[in-house]
Amino acid sequence: MSSQASPVKVFIRIRPTANFAHELIECPPDQQTLKVRSRKDSNKGKRNNQLSSWVFQLNGVLDNVSQEDTYDRVARSVVLGAFAGYNGTIMCFGQTGAGKTYTMTGAAETYKHRGIIPRALQEVIQIYDKEVFQETMVDLLSSIKQGKSSNSGVLTVIEEPGGGVSVKGLSLHLVHNEEEALNLLFEGEMNRIIGEHALNKHSSRSHCIFTVHIESRSRTLSDAKYITSKLNLVDLAGSERLSKTGSEGQAQMEAMYINKSLTFLEQVILALADSRREHVPFRQSKLTHALKDSLGGNCNTVLVANIYGEAAQIEETLSTLRFATRMK
Ligand code: ADP
Ligand code: MG
Repeated sequence: MSSQASPVKVFIRIRPTANFAHELIECPPDQQTLKVRSRKDSNKGKRNNQLSSWVFQLNGVLDNVSQEDTYDRVARSVVLGAFAGYNGTIMCFGQTGAGKTYTMTGAAETYKHRGIIPRALQEVIQIYDKEVFQETMVDLLSSIKQGKSSNSGVLTVIEEPGGGVSVKGLSLHLVHNEEEALNLLFEGEMNRIIGEHALNKHSSRSHCIFTVHIESRSRTLSDAKYITSKLNLVDLAGSERLSKTGSEGQAQMEAMYINKSLTFLEQVILALADSRREHVPFRQSKLTHALKDSLGGNCNTVLVANIYGEAAQIEETLSTLRFATRMK
């Protein structure tokens, strides 16, 4: 059963273990439930002798599912929705190493294992070739590219009269084919890596938003209006908690900011789900502010929570699953 009008569809994707047998995680055939066992009481962090178990209900569980099938189950309807004028957001959430970038971008070396963004671009370009007159713009959000350590001040989110938002200081590129779009994606990923290296950061310490702007008009209806929409493809920063990262100084501050911005994201989604709430706190963080016109309401929003299949990661896994189910 879907819960009361949640604005977000939540999927879990499990990173395969070496022998494909998940430790302590069970995936019933319904593909909507996940069972987890643990000897640890993850709330208190203490071991107890009793085996605890949890059952999580989600919109879908992706266990040993190919990149192609992941795209079909998670992203396709959001991409097609954008052509009907519905803004969409697809986000990957989870601890570092759990598969967020693999899910969003894919394995860089192999086209076969490309992720959601290249597949979405491919679909957008195909529709462009087939059905509509349109211009596709790719907005390459790479705040790190500015090369300033205090990059949080460089890009500002602007509210537009029609209720939309845009990001000031961001480059916008017009693309004509799949190759041009993919080149921008890889350039962005490279800038992310190079920029973060320069700032002594790891790429899991930042959120990365890839926005596709779609402007389309039907070829068959001569007086058809342009439909404009946005598709946000988001690789969120690693969600691991402070204690685990054991970081100090600047790294600790960063972890604090990341935790905070993920909390703000959660607050926004919970507020959107609650029809009695009039105020949605979009402006608490740049992430939620930049996504303001693409979350909830008429938008298609999907969250993929990436988890490890290994028992050693069970605490982070439980924390990711709890976050995921709260969003549902
Ligand atoms: P994150 O972005 O969450 O930190 P990555 O996407 O970089 O994690 O994944 C870590 C490693 O695991 C990468 O080498 C990636 O190729 C691999 N990986 C992640 N998910 C899968 C999967 N579903 N199938 C195969 N390999 C995966
Ligand atoms: Mg990553």
